[in-house]
Amino acid sequence: MTTKTKPTPVEHHENSMFDAVLARLDIAAKICGLSEDVTNILRNPQRQVKVSLPVMMDNGKVQIFEGFRTIHSTILGPSKGGIRYAMDVCDDEVKALSAWMTFKCAVANIPYGGAKGGIKCDPRKLSIGESERLTRAYTAAMADVFGVDKDIPAPDMGTSGREMAWIVDEYNKIFRGSFPGVVTGKPVGIGGSLGRDAATGRGVMISTLAALKKMNLDPKKVTASVQGFGNVGSHAARLLASRGIKICAIGDHTATFWNEKGIDIQAALRHTKENGGVLRGFNGGTEIKANELLTANVDILVPAALQNVITEEIAANVKAKLIVEGANGPTTPEADSILQEKGIIVIPDILANGGGVTVSYFEWVQNKYGHYWNEEEVKTKHDASMNDAFEQVWYNGQHYKTTMRIGAYITALKKVEFGIKAKGSY
Ligand code: GLU
Repeated sequence: MTTKTKPTPVEHHENSMFDAVLARLDIAAKICGLSEDVTNILRNPQRQVKVSLPVMMDNGKVQIFEGFRTIHSTILGPSKGGIRYAMDVCDDEVKALSAWMTFKCAVANIPYGGAKGGIKCDPRKLSIGESERLTRAYTAAMADVFGVDKDIPAPDMGTSGREMAWIVDEYNKIFRGSFPGVVTGKPVGIGGSLGRDAATGRGVMISTLAALKKMNLDPKKVTASVQGFGNVGSHAARLLASRGIKICAIGDHTATFWNEKGIDIQAALRHTKENGGVLRGFNGGTEIKANELLTANVDILVPAALQNVITEEIAANVKAKLIVEGANGPTTPEADSILQEKGIIVIPDILANGGGVTVSYFEWVQNKYGHYWNEEEVKTKHDASMNDAFEQVWYNGQHYKTTMRIGAYITALKKVEFGIKAKGSY
């Protein structure tokens, strides 16, 4: 169980995601006695690149897009992190997400630093041709940033294997060779790994089961709500249901549904497959408001969509005993304190959704070897790695008498601190 301590007050600008990172970093640094030098290094991303991307649109006009890539740290290895296509992509968001990647990779025990990239665009409004030209323009602009042993992108919100295939192809053309390990999350068949697609959802399932065990709860006797039905939420819901957990609510940006008897996840998957990937029109439950899913009467809440959805107001009304963060940054620092006071266990993003980057690492290793594993091999290695990370974070949470979130930060910070000290500085 989490040990209850008086929550530390946090101060941050409500709209800054990077401030939300710093708020947690400062709390964890203080609790574990991190050196001031190391804290200062980690408060400042190593490199920030911003590019302008002129792209010929289908209507014959050139549109300029803004592209970003932030390398937060390369202390523990080449920087790693996804590329996001969304309208809210900006310096602050990419910076925050890049720092989370540094901590996520350290928690997952994989030899990478952290980075994140993105393009400010609405991917739903782009034709396939526009998307391809934009992705290739971004790759060309970032050619000196990316590299197999330098900086390795992957999918994130609004991108998938399709974009990763264009990235590796463009990179190969620029550098006149074959560099499959320059990007992960590629389609299987062109260097992708079996099991990568479902990996983030699988990691959510493994960490949920590990937490239930600590809480002495039987998966077959608990209920859950899953927000988001994309790459993370849909696999998480499917895998949790396959372990006997009753999923009572699911939702995406188009609609949210509740069914006390449990939603048939296979039927929901069929529905999205036949309806352009969205839940709108699904008839396996009663339609409810998006926020009602977050405060529904269930044991487990899995936010697996957007950032900043669990605010102070929502946190005050959360009924779940366990929150498993499939999304990056779904809980605000102010909400953290409320959840802690209520004794709700939160498996933080930098642990819970680390399954994706863990299998990205496996993909990169396979690319380097030129030898590919079967799906069982990937799953076995992934599950063992997630369980180890969970135990380490749980131990630190208990040892430092703090939350799982701060326990996860401490786990990461200690590893990065070791790297910084071992390598030295100018
Ligand atoms: N975008 C994913 C994340 O936030 C995966 C990153 C990766 O595989 O490099 O963890």
